[in-house]
Amino acid sequence: MRRQLAPLVVGRAITEAWGHPSPKFASAPAAVGARIDDVGRRGKYLLLGLDDDRELIVHLGMTGQLRLRPGALDPHVRAWWALDDGEVLELRDVRRFGRVGVVATGDHGSLPTLAAQGPEPWDPSLDDGGLWRRLRPSRARIKTQLLSQRPLAGVGNIYADEALWLAQIHPARRSVTRAEAARLLTELRAVLEQGIANGGTTLRDYRTPDGEPGRNQLDLQCYGRAGEPCARCGTELRRLVVDARGTTVCPTCQPRR
Ligand code: ZN
Repeated sequence: MRRQLAPLVVGRAITEAWGHPSPKFASAPAAVGARIDDVGRRGKYLLLGLDDDRELIVHLGMTGQLRLRPGALDPHVRAWWALDDGEVLELRDVRRFGRVGVVATGDHGSLPTLAAQGPEPWDPSLDDGGLWRRLRPSRARIKTQLLSQRPLAGVGNIYADEALWLAQIHPARRSVTRAEAARLLTELRAVLEQGIANGGTTLRDYRTPDGEPGRNQLDLQCYGRAGEPCARCGTELRRLVVDARGTTVCPTCQPRR
């Protein structure tokens, strides 16, 4: 999303804006008058750098869509920003798990989840046992740790299931070896890189800024495939619940131990 959005909005000034009165979206108009200098990202947060040393922060939550050239008026639009080239950037969010913030650059105290998240998945500090050292102090289940964003940033339900299947680690385990953590890091990077190259995963809601679905759902090997044979060993993939999150595993490749 960052890569696709940047060429469409960088250099544009925000001339007018609106935010739904909910505290999650109401700050959207604070960006009026500023120019968008760059589009960055931390974990699942988009950080649009403004020319007045502030950032417009957008999190899509579960059902959020950030798109240009919106069509007709839509009751699920929670915020919009009119740009000086006549386009309108619009946040549509049916379930309202997303949020918007306009803050001084780097001042993320009002966004605790953003402030507390771990390094980016490609950060070299995760190599050479770095991810293992970040996972080791916690006794939480490995998948729950990943979804917390604390060991590293940006891994959601789909990518966690895929990477754990590829690394052959059961998602409900409470500890992993250093070698397993290294394998998991390799697979996390691989599934995220594939997802980015495919323009995201669209199961229902996700859309690119052009309003198009992503293509990564076609390449998923484990997530959402319960009842189908494992692509590695042929065992039927099984759906289970790990700390309230639906999860798909191969009972053979991912032993519980
Ligand atoms: Zn298997």
